[in-house]
Amino acid sequence: MSRSFLSRILFLALLSTIAAPLLWADGESVPARDPKQPVDEGYTAKMKKYTTAPYFTSPLVDYLPASKLVPTPEAVLGDVAGAPGILPYAEDVYKYMRMLEAASPRVKVISIGKTEEGREMIAVAVSSGENLKNLEVNRARLAKLADPRTIHLDDAEADKLVAQSTPVYYITGTIHSPETGAPTALMELAYRLSVDESPYIKDIRDGVITLITPVVEVDGRDRVVDIYNWHLAHTKDFYPPLIYWGKYVAHDNNRDAMGVTLKLTENVLNAYVDWTAQVLHDLHESVPYLYDNTVGDGPYNAWIDPILVDEWNMIASRNVADMTKFGMPGVFTHGDFDTWSPGYLMFMAAMHNGISRLYETFGNGNADTRERTLEPDEYARTWFKQNPPLPKTLWSQRDNNNYEETGLLTSLHYFNENKRLFLKNFYLKAKRSVTKPSSEGPAAYVLPADEPRATLQAELLQVLQKQKVEICKAKSQLTITLPAKREKKKEGDKSADTKDAKDEKKEPTTRIFPAGSYVVRMDQPYSRVADALLDHQYWSPEDPQKTPYDDTGWTFGELFGVQVVRVTDAKILDAPMEKMDAIRAAGGVKGDGAVFAINNHAEPALAALRYKLKDAQIETAEEPFEAGGTKFTRGTFLIRDAKRADIENTAKEVGLQIIALSSAPRVKTHPVRAARIAYVHTWLATQMEGWWRLALDNLQIPYDYISTQTIGKISDLREKYDVILFPPVGINAQPMAIINGLPTAWGNPLPWKNTPLTPNLVGKNDSTDDMRPGLGLDGVAKLQSFVERGGVLLTVDDTAQFAISIGFGTGVNAARSEKMKIVGAVVGTQLVDAASPIAYGYDEKIPAYCDDGLVFSLSSIAGGRRRRRLGPEMRQRPTGRGTKDDPDFAVGRAGAEAPEEPEAEIWEYPPVTAEQAHNNARVIPPPNRARVVLRYANGKDLLISGLVDNGGEIAQHPAVLDVPFGQGHVVLFSINPVYRGETRGTYSLVLNTLLNFDSLNAGRKDAAK
Ligand SMILES: [Zn+2]
Repeated sequence: MSRSFLSRILFLALLSTIAAPLLWADGESVPARDPKQPVDEGYTAKMKKYTTAPYFTSPLVDYLPASKLVPTPEAVLGDVAGAPGILPYAEDVYKYMRMLEAASPRVKVISIGKTEEGREMIAVAVSSGENLKNLEVNRARLAKLADPRTIHLDDAEADKLVAQSTPVYYITGTIHSPETGAPTALMELAYRLSVDESPYIKDIRDGVITLITPVVEVDGRDRVVDIYNWHLAHTKDFYPPLIYWGKYVAHDNNRDAMGVTLKLTENVLNAYVDWTAQVLHDLHESVPYLYDNTVGDGPYNAWIDPILVDEWNMIASRNVADMTKFGMPGVFTHGDFDTWSPGYLMFMAAMHNGISRLYETFGNGNADTRERTLEPDEYARTWFKQNPPLPKTLWSQRDNNNYEETGLLTSLHYFNENKRLFLKNFYLKAKRSVTKPSSEGPAAYVLPADEPRATLQAELLQVLQKQKVEICKAKSQLTITLPAKREKKKEGDKSADTKDAKDEKKEPTTRIFPAGSYVVRMDQPYSRVADALLDHQYWSPEDPQKTPYDDTGWTFGELFGVQVVRVTDAKILDAPMEKMDAIRAAGGVKGDGAVFAINNHAEPALAALRYKLKDAQIETAEEPFEAGGTKFTRGTFLIRDAKRADIENTAKEVGLQIIALSSAPRVKTHPVRAARIAYVHTWLATQMEGWWRLALDNLQIPYDYISTQTIGKISDLREKYDVILFPPVGINAQPMAIINGLPTAWGNPLPWKNTPLTPNLVGKNDSTDDMRPGLGLDGVAKLQSFVERGGVLLTVDDTAQFAISIGFGTGVNAARSEKMKIVGAVVGTQLVDAASPIAYGYDEKIPAYCDDGLVFSLSSIAGGRRRRRLGPEMRQRPTGRGTKDDPDFAVGRAGAEAPEEPEAEIWEYPPVTAEQAHNNARVIPPPNRARVVLRYANGKDLLISGLVDNGGEIAQHPAVLDVPFGQGHVVLFSINPVYRGETRGTYSLVLNTLLNFDSLNAGRKDAAK
């Protein structure tokens, strides 16, 4: 048989399978239109025209049913959903949804809150008129399933509720602003669900409440539409990249589901929980053509219920199967994305007993139709992608909308077919969360009442309350047995080789927590999210997953710098305690006297207080002291000549405890001032700095927000500012990129400013006629003169590297690690110089966030690299007489004593030998050297949470440096102290720098040489 004959037979066989009538699953409606319902011919023809290939659509969306009463998206868009050249503003999307609501009893629109810039966020419920009429009754039933304590964990009662309830499937669109397709897809989806009479769609409408937030990042949506309109008006030009999405962050708006610091996170979480939804399905665009990344890849989050993993697989594999049967290429569910971090918006469902889902469909970044060429790994057929995308194709926003809608409709249908199972699972996951203390542990977490960082403790508890976790307060003292801790033998410990080298087992200990301690009970429906945030993470360097998708560690107690104790002793649950409403740190003034002292425990509230009391004279103690029977730390605030009432009001506002003393303590002090701050951003990226802005705004610390372009234009920086904050750029920006910006030798200006065509771009952020220029050499000179004349420049990671490269870090070398992998992890750092004002209020050990931080090394000789340490074995005595420790001898003369070799720790400046010092103008005098404030922990203590591999490269190296330069200082950070609202324990390293800008040399002790 010839090969061509064989392939012809195969081809015919294949053809016959395709031609056979569609047999859908047993008893399920076939996905096809109702031939009795008329089609909107005009709309359907346009959809067909904008779909670039027949296999980029499906029987579910290749027609639009006609309705006499309900308007189609064309009423607002002027064309069909997904039409080229059309991106609606959020307002237009809302307008359409409200037109639907007005025309159909099957649609209900509600406001779910406002964004940072005051724009509305909505949710649209679509279901049968009957279901919408009975919303409240249904919600009450679902609420019982969501909190099984209300039905005493009675499975029979749950079964009754399951049988009566209509589930809620929540879909969210365009959280990522350059992923532009979802709003039109969701407009059309809402229309279809409300008017289509085909059995397949009717099943969904009658069986499920579909809840839709068509635009999650509303501020960013309006910006991207502005940019698109500019592009349509200037088709021959390059258009500006979307430098700002929301007010604060860009892509990271989908990494906020732990800290819940952004409005969009809070609003969606509230809607999800209020509606007691079972699914949260978030729409993204990046991967061709539809990657249901829900199943993704390992490692999976350790705290989710395994029932959820089964649900992910069920829905996703059916989703892929259905769309494969439609003949749509490029639909798959395994790929790049591990399910470890709970930071993603959709993961809020996974953490709240629901089902998290996420689509990556294929978007063009706007509504242009373009020819798209894929990378080989994108079009390769793999075991999980049997029908891969095409190497090259014309792609339209309509194609994207077809994929989004088809995926959603098949998911909704399958979900409805199996809703009793999913509702029962919803109950079971909640029940298993409630029985967690006895089934798997722990029983609770305790945050002790005697926590010195009361404001940070309150902030951590507030995050948990935003996550809908119940917090209790112990009415009396708690006596808790803490389990014995197994201690592995340390590496290199010789006794580990002997036969009794078992794990050392310590005895269980008893710990007493004072009355008023906070208890996070694990016998509550949302115990999993509390457990996931408060527990420690371990990511093995041997894990087969070599490219973690996001952060690997986040332990909130560590990053907030407060004590959190994991308790397995279930007795704690019997202790008397009360459930708390909103938690706040209690501030106020105690005692009598005219001197007010505030202990410094590195709480950001201190800086908030300093700025609120802007006219008060505040001093800070340079040494610890005792007064009126109280111990005060170094860095304690002392306020004189102030009205008690003012102090008291502010103390209450910020939650700080103040002690009035009858007389000023005898301790050396210096003023703490409310520094005038210039806050610098680039036009390259704003995401990383956005988290810093958010932190300062929350503390109500004022600053001027300026770009690198502005620096060169300010005639006298020092006259205007005390501190320049230059947070990380975040794209590993090279120093020359910060100076040069984007290329200007060709191309056109890229304006970022409000115009009639682009009314939403700026918001309250920054504007420019051309985003391309960077700091420039003028700007470099201005920065140098600013610091020279007493200003302080604070830099982090890539901006620290920039600062060193323009000559600020004499003797400081900053290198990128070679083999080390610290992927968004919590690491140990240690105080080196507790007398530095930057370290005021901190304990010896400070957990910090690190993401492959810069490796700082110090050299005492300018322009010289530090000698590489070769290790002790290379310093052993040479071959000669005597024992290992004896000196050698030379025959015929008296022995000579060898001089001591100067030794220095990894984080220190190596001492200068007399030989090196001889006529050497490059030797850096001790007062000109950097002050090491903080260093990374020793290798064995480096990992606190997450992935640390080859940590030896950074262990013990400086983590925070204070470099003197002229009259001023440059502060260099290797850790990132301000990140995603999660690292509040290290904020004060930055805030201390602000408040002590003109006294950073306090307590400084220089080496002798
Ligand atoms: Zn995305």
